[in-house]
Amino acid sequence: MIKFINVNKWFKEHQVLKNVNLEISKGEVVVICGPSGAGKSTLLRTINKLEPIQKGDIVIEGAHLSDNTINITSMRADIGMVFQQFNLYPHMSVIKNIMLAPVKVRKISKKEAHDRAMRLLEKVGLAHKRDCYPNQLSGGEQQRVAIARSLAMEPKIMLFDEPTSALDPELINEVLDVMISLADEGMTMVVVSHEMAFAQQVANRVVFMDNGEIIEIGVPPNIFIDPQHERTKAFMSNVLHMPVFCYNEERK
Ligand code: ADP
Ligand code: MG
Repeated sequence: MIKFINVNKWFKEHQVLKNVNLEISKGEVVVICGPSGAGKSTLLRTINKLEPIQKGDIVIEGAHLSDNTINITSMRADIGMVFQQFNLYPHMSVIKNIMLAPVKVRKISKKEAHDRAMRLLEKVGLAHKRDCYPNQLSGGEQQRVAIARSLAMEPKIMLFDEPTSALDPELINEVLDVMISLADEGMTMVVVSHEMAFAQQVANRVVFMDNGEIIEIGVPPNIFIDPQHERTKAFMSNVLHMPVFCYNEERK
């Protein structure tokens, strides 16, 4: 469904993606983790061509992003993106936030967009907040609205860039629960996150990136508990606040 083929990207002289190869299947949930500056956000943003790449190619459902004849607008409409900052339109009510793009981009009727928005608000547990404005909501609620707004476009792929990093700890789970139910429904998801419990529960694979490179890819328990690469070990011990000696020493 998504295929990175030898993807390389530079910001001026600074190489931020180095020979990235990764294939993500339909229905798969892939979690990307790694230190700040590793290139995780940039990698996500290359998927909908928000960031151009200079070498290699990315194939989305058979369409090569290097092919300038593809319709990037319609491709982007099929890819939802949720950011750390919720980016809701502050001057619009919750329901209007969700209805906007389906009416403007998908050209569905207001009635249909309204019904769809209400269904999605129910799904994220916020139907009672339909007429509120974003600043009347908690961060967790705003992020759930942001997810509902993305889903209203009926995307084929959902990208999440640290969706819970800006939230108070007690609000993280309400957002993760929405994401878990989405994963359970079979959505293809690429999630930049350091939420291990989430990754353990729904990720098919975890990708560890550092310095523009994919260092290691594995199933969640392995990559957290028994990483192979020194850089992954160092990172995981920091994130999990676990001393390195907890990692499996026996294998050596
Ligand atoms: P991460 O999400 O893993 O923290 P990013 O993808 O945001 O990392 O950034 C990767 C590298 O690219 C960093 O060194 C960052 O400073 C640099 N970078 C990101 N965006 C830009 C930009 N628009 N212009 C120049 N450098 C950038
Ligand atoms: Mg980032």
